[in-house]
Amino acid sequence: MPPIFDTILVIDDVEPMLRTVVRILKKYDYRVLTANSGNKGIVTFEADNVDIIISDLMMPDGDGFVVLKYIHNNSPETPVIIVSGLGERTDVIKAINEGAYDYIEKPVSKSLLIHSVENALERLKMWRKSESDKLELRKIVQTKTRQLKLAIKNLSIARDLLIKSNQELDEAMVTSQINEAKYRALINKSPIGISVINSNYSISEANPAFLRVFGFSSVEELRKIDILTSPAFMNSGITSNLLKCMKKAEECSFVEECSLDDNANKWVKCYLTPIKTQGFYQDILLLIEDVSLRKKAEKKSEEDAMLCKLSGLLNQNNFLPTLEKQISNVKAKCYNLALVYIDIDDFKKINDTLGHPGGDELIKAVGKRIQRAISKDIDCGFRVGGDEFAVIFTQYQNNSIRGIVERFFDQLKKPYAISAGRMENITFSLGIAEYSNQSAKELYDAADKVTYDSKKAGKNTCSYY
Ligand code: GH3
Ligand code: MG
Repeated sequence: MPPIFDTILVIDDVEPMLRTVVRILKKYDYRVLTANSGNKGIVTFEADNVDIIISDLMMPDGDGFVVLKYIHNNSPETPVIIVSGLGERTDVIKAINEGAYDYIEKPVSKSLLIHSVENALERLKMWRKSESDKLELRKIVQTKTRQLKLAIKNLSIARDLLIKSNQELDEAMVTSQINEAKYRALINKSPIGISVINSNYSISEANPAFLRVFGFSSVEELRKIDILTSPAFMNSGITSNLLKCMKKAEECSFVEECSLDDNANKWVKCYLTPIKTQGFYQDILLLIEDVSLRKKAEKKSEEDAMLCKLSGLLNQNNFLPTLEKQISNVKAKCYNLALVYIDIDDFKKINDTLGHPGGDELIKAVGKRIQRAISKDIDCGFRVGGDEFAVIFTQYQNNSIRGIVERFFDQLKKPYAISAGRMENITFSLGIAEYSNQSAKELYDAADKVTYDSKKAGKNTCSYY
């Protein structure tokens, strides 16, 4: 059964003919519209939904060709079936050429009419189906095109982002290279030795100043060192402090001044700081400052403070403290100790004849003579006043002090060469007091007293307490 909504417009000016066709079609349940001229048929076509047109050719008010032309121009998919008389063959051919779908001869055969209508409807449905498929396809193409455009747009945004982030990365890399070069230069030029000690107790990184301190020529050489057994690191206290630092497993710094060699020629100041990486203390930063020059300067100024600049001997500030120290050594180790007090005889006269600078020259020469005449590592010489000197003799054998002092005295009395000339007859008065459980002050007083005895006895002599 054909669907009830298939609508057929029948156009014919001959009323009986029109009715015949309408009757046949209605029997087949088609919806049928009618018009008695071509022009009216076009009006009906425009006003309704018409699937097929069955049209007569020859009509007074707008013939079948008018209908064909209209359909050709406005709805070419609509099949138009021409109904023609026997004498209209030429017109039928023309109508086919102008777009007619089929033709039926009058009188109209029911079966031919229905056959032609069904064929026309079938073609119409196929056309509609293909149109709907095309539409569907177009929609799919449109959707895909939209998606593609969106994807291209997103791709372009992503590409721009990628280019931008690449540029930023390049800039960051350049900046980081510049920064690294700066830090590298800072580390390389730093006068402080910088190194990194890893958990295997070996050095992984070190700057040139660090190599210089330890006398290494390359980091590779330094990397072979085991800090736990290296003498330089052990002697300087770095090893023990490093172990403490690692054991604590927390940020700790220590500063220690230590000598890198046995002769204390090289002094360093160390800073140990654990470095936290990924939440753990693994490496330790060891900073070393070579403080040898400062240390030497300090030592020199300490020595200067203890020395008499003119004579080169220890000055009087050190005299009693040194004597006390020596006495306590003697007590502990049972040494002998004697204090010899020395005063130049008639020194005022020398000042008077040679002037004060001449007197100074003699004091200097006497200082040197005392220095040479005593045992350097054991005995100590002092200038304790204007023309007064003292020597502490220790570690001599029992009863040998007199001989020691006599030899010392002989040395002292030898002629002195100063810029004014050779001085043959410089004499001294000496006072000798041996230690026998007195205090330093008592020993000093005793030596001083016997020196005065020497003066009283006519000078140029030694008096024993
Ligand atoms: P005596 O034989 O009794 O020791 O008499 P003296 O002439 O040596 O005189 P005394 O020891 O009593 O005095 C020492 C002198 O040394 C007094 C002072 O003018 C002088 N004097 C002190 N210090 C210096 C100095 O640094 N340089 C010089 N040239 N003379 C000094
Ligand atoms: Mg004197």
